Amino acid sequence: MAAEKGELALIDWIRRNQTLRSSRVSIGLGDDLAGLRLDGQELLFGCDQVLDTVHFKLSECGARAAGRKALARNLSDVAAMAAEPLAALASVALPNDMPAEEARQIVRGMWDLAEQFNFPVIGGDVGSWGGALVINVSILARAAGVGPVLRSGAKPGDVIMVTGELGGAILGKHLSFVPLVKEARVLAEAVKVQAMIDVSDGLAVDLRHITAESGCGARIIAERIPISEAAKELARKCGDTALAHSLSDGEDYELLFTVAAADADRAAKVLRSAGTQASRIGEITEAKVVLVGKDGREQELPAGGYEHFTGPNRPG
Ligand SMILES: [Mg+2]
Repeated sequence: MAAEKGELALIDWIRRNQTLRSSRVSIGLGDDLAGLRLDGQELLFGCDQVLDTVHFKLSECGARAAGRKALARNLSDVAAMAAEPLAALASVALPNDMPAEEARQIVRGMWDLAEQFNFPVIGGDVGSWGGALVINVSILARAAGVGPVLRSGAKPGDVIMVTGELGGAILGKHLSFVPLVKEARVLAEAVKVQAMIDVSDGLAVDLRHITAESGCGARIIAERIPISEAAKELARKCGDTALAHSLSDGEDYELLFTVAAADADRAAKVLRSAGTQASRIGEITEAKVVLVGKDGREQELPAGGYEHFTGPNRPG
């Protein structure tokens, strides 16, 4: 029988089959960053890549935006744990025919963001080949006093909140977003964040990462989901509803998190003071992930969203 194909199926297979383990690993597979405990200190690591035509279109956005995005995605994972970035490394697979100046622009795009968040890019690797541009960034971070906030801490009764607005990031936000590193730290300093993830694959998919890792369910209220103007614009063009876009589109890089009900007001307040709105979109339950529609009817939340490696690529 052929093995099940898909990003999640592969991760699940790795989880079940990896044999080498270390007592130093404090956070293993299944979170935004992995953790290692060394001499009493916990260091957090992650890596994330971007591929030309999948995560950006080099011919449209240019090399600087591609380099910036590669680092920004990693910083969003740092934000998802309310951690503090320390350093990054970058490997690039350059197309053989890429001009030297364009290659430099990739690095400039990374420096733009590294300067903004005050950490260095300390190394990497350069290769070239006959294929399209690939940029892989590894990030090193630490908890530095708060967190790290995991995906696995949500409890029934928690309020589910999300920052910003969702959907339609393909129209521009997927390149221009500013990772919510500072906002996440302000939040986690003010209240106990039970579980958190960045919305990279779409609300429906990323919420399921929290419920799966926490062993619980969720109840989301459709009318409370903050739908972006871009989602509405896409809905007018493509025929899907704006709600569907806000549930399923990836790459908003907003923060999806849960807090005890008593902390929800304070969470919204501190995020507002940090310049970000946060919406209460539902609550954590014992089991099942359901969406309450505008008519009040509950339905199982479609697991729609972007999962890699299941079929043909789509831009995103
Ligand atoms: Mg993430």
